[in-house]
Amino acid sequence: MKNRISKVVVVGGGTAGWMSAALLKRVLGEPIEIELVESEEIGIVGVGEATIPPIQHVNAVLGIDEAEFLRETKSTIKLAIRFENWRVPGEKYYHTFGAPGRSQAFCHFHHFWTRARQAGHESNLWDYDLNYLCAEAGKFAKLQVNDPMWEMPYAYHFDASLYGAYLRKYSEKRGVKRTEGLVEQVNIHPENGQVESLVLRDGKIITGDLFIDCSGIRGLLIHKKLNTGYEDWGHWLPCDRAMAVPSERFEETLPYTRSIAHSAGWQWRIPLQHRNGNGLVYSSNHYSDDEASNILLNNLESKATGEPRIIPFRTGRTRRQWNRNVVAVGLSSGFLEPLESTSIYLIQSAIVRLIHLFPHAGVTPGLVDEYNRQSQREYELIRDFIIMHYYLNERDDSRFWRDTRNMDVPERLTQKIELFRSNGSIFQDQLDIFLESSWLQVMLGQGVMPQDYHPIADSLSDQQLQEKLANTRKLKMEPLPKIPSHDEFLKMFCQGA
Ligand SMILES: Cc1cc2nc3c(=O)[nH]c(=O)nc-3n(C[C@H](O)[C@H](O)[C@H](O)COP(=O)(O)OP(=O)(O)OC[C@H]3O[C@@H](n4cnc5c(N)ncnc54)[C@H](O)[C@@H]3O)c2cc1C
Repeated sequence: MKNRISKVVVVGGGTAGWMSAALLKRVLGEPIEIELVESEEIGIVGVGEATIPPIQHVNAVLGIDEAEFLRETKSTIKLAIRFENWRVPGEKYYHTFGAPGRSQAFCHFHHFWTRARQAGHESNLWDYDLNYLCAEAGKFAKLQVNDPMWEMPYAYHFDASLYGAYLRKYSEKRGVKRTEGLVEQVNIHPENGQVESLVLRDGKIITGDLFIDCSGIRGLLIHKKLNTGYEDWGHWLPCDRAMAVPSERFEETLPYTRSIAHSAGWQWRIPLQHRNGNGLVYSSNHYSDDEASNILLNNLESKATGEPRIIPFRTGRTRRQWNRNVVAVGLSSGFLEPLESTSIYLIQSAIVRLIHLFPHAGVTPGLVDEYNRQSQREYELIRDFIIMHYYLNERDDSRFWRDTRNMDVPERLTQKIELFRSNGSIFQDQLDIFLESSWLQVMLGQGVMPQDYHPIADSLSDQQLQEKLANTRKLKMEPLPKIPSHDEFLKMFCQGA
């Protein structure tokens, strides 16, 4: 067939480039040739160290040994994100990967909890969530149980450079060809308008049928060559800069990311086996770089081991993430601040989508439109979830927080919040990576309390309700004494014990 795709060229060797190459090679196998071009001179963005549980699917598809993975990427376990000072200064809540209690058909556990609360039996909803209990206690184990009551979904924190190197080794071993070189020119076919070849600085020409643009924020193919256009979401998410710095590891590594709000932005703390990753995400309209640097360095809690590095960004989305025969993956496809660690997931999801819609017989408008429709929806849903953290704040200590509280947000988001506020209902949209329990935790954590609950929660007597809550708590607490500390787990597991 004339337009058959037999060679894919990946431009860029950051997390996006190597994850794309590894997944495409593993799933599509021998018939598709894959060549990755990267330039050491340009380098990678070098951040992106916190993930969410779907990363486990990537490892499963690639057939990665988890202990080896943890050792080589200096990973730690992530059970949750702890949000500090987000609703009001001094308060904290967790967004865990778990879920409180045990839900039953048609009625989530939080409806029972709401009913008890309205009857004057106050309790902390997170006390019914094993992820929270382990995160707070600094514990972790891979529980081998079949009861969803004791499920403990987890993700990883890893060193971004080591992760890229790990995937590179994996990919090259399986036949991905790596070419070192700076792409200086992109040639377009005069008739069909598709990218035909790349010209490197040393004159080498690289041809391909399908191009994956993983060239980072610059978007070498999708923006610089194809001028695809960008939808800017800065009016909803005003942070436009980050400053990152590594610091010495703490004596104890805890199994969660910290997100600490400041007067015009927030700071991340990511524990790795050998160091901490830190950074401040901020609005340049509110902080100068010097102020940002002072805030970041004064709040490190361990000695900095490098110089702070500034990374400017523009929040938004590339309008057509698949344009002609170019698919933008990673930072070239858009940027959402790392508040919920979603960017690496978006790389995974983009490649999985591309594999599902792979244009083996040539690029067609139908495939491209479907890909772009799904990508847009997915980006928008994550965007709304992130906006919610800002919009639902009750801080009164700076213009930044007052402005974000008073902004007009997408209508779908206000509908979601109002539905939950009025009767505790939450629905997960198709293509939404965030489950009901995620929406629940962040809405509650940001101070939205349901005024009513589902009538099924009335099916229990007051005493039965009390017993249900007490038993659930007891069951959730049961495995805790046998679960080792997170550090003990890492030591034992990485040694293969
Ligand atoms: C401050 C910050 C914090 C983040 N934190 C998280 C997080 O906690 N969790 C998460 O999931 N995501 C996070 N992200 C996002 C994450 O870092 C990225 O999604 C991920 O690193 C992928 O980047 P990339 O591969 O698209 O780009 P890059 O790492 O920038 O790689 C671009 C590649 O393109 C190559 N290249 C560019 N131009 C050329 C050229 N002309 N010729 C040849 N090669 C070229 C470069 O050499 C490089 O190899 C964060 C991002 C930022 C900015």
